Amino acid sequence: MTDQSFDVIVVGAGLMGSAAARHLAEMGVKTALVGPDEPDVKAAHTGVFASHYDEARITRKIDTRKNWARFSQAAINRYAEIEAKGGQPFFSPVGAIISGPETGEGSNFILNAQRNAIEDAVPHEALRGKDLAERFPDFVFPDNILALYEASDAGWINPRAHVRAQITAAQSAGAFVLRRAVMHIAEKMGEAQVFCAGGEVLRADKVIVACGAFSKAEGLLPEPLPMKVYARTIAFFELDTQEALRLRQMPSVVYLPPDLSADPYILPPVRYPDGKTYIKIGGDAVDRELGSTAEMIEWFRSGGDPVAGAAIADILTGLMPGLKHRSVSFDSCATSFSPNGNPFIYPQTDHIIALTAGNGAGAKCADELGRLGALVATGGTIPAEIYEGSFAP
Ligand SMILES: Cc1cc2nc3c(=O)[nH]c(=O)nc-3n(C[C@H](O)[C@H](O)[C@H](O)COP(=O)(O)OP(=O)(O)OC[C@H]3O[C@@H](n4cnc5c(N)ncnc54)[C@H](O)[C@@H]3O)c2cc1C
Repeated sequence: MTDQSFDVIVVGAGLMGSAAARHLAEMGVKTALVGPDEPDVKAAHTGVFASHYDEARITRKIDTRKNWARFSQAAINRYAEIEAKGGQPFFSPVGAIISGPETGEGSNFILNAQRNAIEDAVPHEALRGKDLAERFPDFVFPDNILALYEASDAGWINPRAHVRAQITAAQSAGAFVLRRAVMHIAEKMGEAQVFCAGGEVLRADKVIVACGAFSKAEGLLPEPLPMKVYARTIAFFELDTQEALRLRQMPSVVYLPPDLSADPYILPPVRYPDGKTYIKIGGDAVDRELGSTAEMIEWFRSGGDPVAGAAIADILTGLMPGLKHRSVSFDSCATSFSPNGNPFIYPQTDHIIALTAGNGAGAKCADELGRLGALVATGGTIPAEIYEGSFAP
């Protein structure tokens, strides 16, 4: 590399960072995207991890939180464009359900979702009781559940393929991509300097730190982020070919049970790189905070907590009693939450911008969050007529 100076360097080639890099490059900004690829063997890896090392994330335009509904609407509307530019399909529009108790404690979850869907004119069907059971006979929902079903523009995305598509599109638009971890970011003589694991030093007017949970790591952002990172265990139910075929039209499901005891979400059958097909459930009942970078790395390497995994697996077998599966396995991941529920998209100094805190929904919304990060890095502001609240601590 002869020229190591850029207008903007995006640190973190994950869902948000790759999106920010594409938007910047397409705006004509001289852009670099710096971040490592996925490790080959998680259990043996001692460096940073990402929350997108998986084959499926739920996507839907309806959300109980207005901003997140709008982030996802904007992002989903651009999926086809990104797939075309990146030469990489990643969206499976199998539909999605969001569901929860219609009355009593916790009813604001589904009622807010319904209000947001109506306000933003997102096409959906409201189903309950007999209609819900007849329409989705594989699920046994308790009484008093209202389900909002989005038949189109919803389903799941492959987050790895999404990142690949964004990186290809960013490169086509002129972005420079360096597959390295960043060890340190400094501000000196009116610019930011990015020190990479391979010894490279890149310079730029602005640096966006989009390192997911690892944005909290020492040496990256100048100010500590009040972001909580939680350990998450996911349960994978392996299906045989016949069961996968039987459930091929299953939508993605987000479900708040009436006792509010957990926060489960279910992915329909998805074929994984090992050639097997799995239904996945996540949504731990207990939040276990990961304090330090070392704790995060250890957790990502661990493969999850079998007790938490068994508890969420029980939820799936209760909700889909007819489900036939060969085996159940677990894996670990981490989610990052801000105190006010918005993502962090703000300049910490003249040169360094934070772009993180997916609040459990950063995958489906990634392209819009990346666009907003690119906007802020180029001197713009997040439009208050669309998005409410603060994006800084
Ligand atoms: C189990 C689970 C299920 C989820 N399900 C959904 C879902 O159904 N729908 C949904 O919308 N969201 C879901 N999410 C949330 C979503 O995956 C995250 O919000 C999203 O991955 C956040 O994107 P990000 O770009 O901030 O972080 P990441 O995707 O984690 O990317 C961060 C990147 O930064 C890089 N990085 C870290 N440190 C450094 C460094 N020092 N130098 C350079 N690069 C670095 C990493 O390598 C990584 O590539 C789920 C999360 C989990 C854990």
